[in-house]
Amino acid sequence: MGEEATKTIQTRLHIASGEQSWLHDARFASREIFNDTIHLKQRGYNRTEIQQKVDRDDFLRNNKCAVVGKALQTWDSYQSLLEWWRDQDDPDAGKPTPPSTDNSGAYPLVMAHAEGYRLTVDDDTNRVQFRISPKPYKKVTGHLRGKPDAMDELRDAITSDEMDVGQAELLYRDGVYYLHVTVTREFDVPEPDTADTVVGVDINERNVALTALDRETMRTKGTLVLDYGRVKQERQRYHTITTRCQEHGKTSIHRKLGDQEQRFTEWVLHRLSRAVVEFAEQFTNPVIVFEDMSGIRDEMQYGSYVNRRLHKLPFHTFEKFVSYKATWREIPTDTVDAYYNSKTCSCCGERGYRQGRRFRCTNDECDVVQDHADRNASVNIAWREKAKLDGNESNYRTHKTQPQVRLVRLSGSGHVSRPTSSHSLAEQGVLAHG
Ligand SMILES: [Zn+2]
Repeated sequence: MGEEATKTIQTRLHIASGEQSWLHDARFASREIFNDTIHLKQRGYNRTEIQQKVDRDDFLRNNKCAVVGKALQTWDSYQSLLEWWRDQDDPDAGKPTPPSTDNSGAYPLVMAHAEGYRLTVDDDTNRVQFRISPKPYKKVTGHLRGKPDAMDELRDAITSDEMDVGQAELLYRDGVYYLHVTVTREFDVPEPDTADTVVGVDINERNVALTALDRETMRTKGTLVLDYGRVKQERQRYHTITTRCQEHGKTSIHRKLGDQEQRFTEWVLHRLSRAVVEFAEQFTNPVIVFEDMSGIRDEMQYGSYVNRRLHKLPFHTFEKFVSYKATWREIPTDTVDAYYNSKTCSCCGERGYRQGRRFRCTNDECDVVQDHADRNASVNIAWREKAKLDGNESNYRTHKTQPQVRLVRLSGSGHVSRPTSSHSLAEQGVLAHG
């Protein structure tokens, strides 16, 4: 099944001809167009009307369309974040701030390939040459530099039919101009029912638990728990500062920190989603499985636990990030109904209960007395997928001996570390009867 995925390649500009000031001016004009677009959108104008209103002589019409498009995208993601925020009952979560329209300064110059900018590969030097049109009748040319892998990928995209070069954004930082180029590729993602390994993903307010099960034997191939509790604390800190600024009416600082917090959350989601895909791809023919949370918000039967874990992370964004990264590696994803996965014993299928990090089974006949609670939930999700793919009812049977749960912590500094205590229950896994 062909699926498209887009990724961004980061490069630096080495300018050979043209004026840097043209690039500078275009970035400042972009900011004005961005501000005007958001203003007009807030006042109910549609895309076509906005395009007409923000038109200007010193800016390429095609670039203008691209900047307006990007501004409207920002507006849309603010709207969905706001929707998410309205649905939650967590008073600690900061209300998303609308994209600001009173910022001065620069904004990335967004350009469509072959219109606002063009890339070619030089046959002799193998360099990627660029030609940017920051203003009508003005051209800046030179070549791009970046990490060798990334540059290879970019050369492939320019020269092959299988990849497309899309929009690019021109940015500036500390004396250097950067060009972030998007490339789109089509992938052959296998159907979920061809999978040999089922990877259940359970997400809650502290961590993401992943368990890989062999579809044939349903033996556990591995469990990984990604703890992001510390990152959350840092997020909380941002929120505290934000609230304080709000009380003093310093809206501009508030906005800046709001952006920072949003970037921070996105950074966390990127780190976590990358780890999910890297975990899955070490197994043969994996499928990554999520709980479908979309329909359960109002169903009180799931209680506060599920409600809480829905709200601590923008779950849909996380799922989207994982799916996108998985597509790029040609790994399928799927969803199963969210149905008591955290309260059901993965061995006997009966209801148990969660006690901190442990899941306790109340069934005396069951082999398993307790397991790591997050593993238990992720195993159940994998079981549901097997039942869905093989068309039978889930016949729960966790094997008596389970491999250890690997626990890694994500911290705000970007380090992923192993816990110091080797005695934590997290690492002991299943404790079985005699
Ligand atoms: Zn049980």
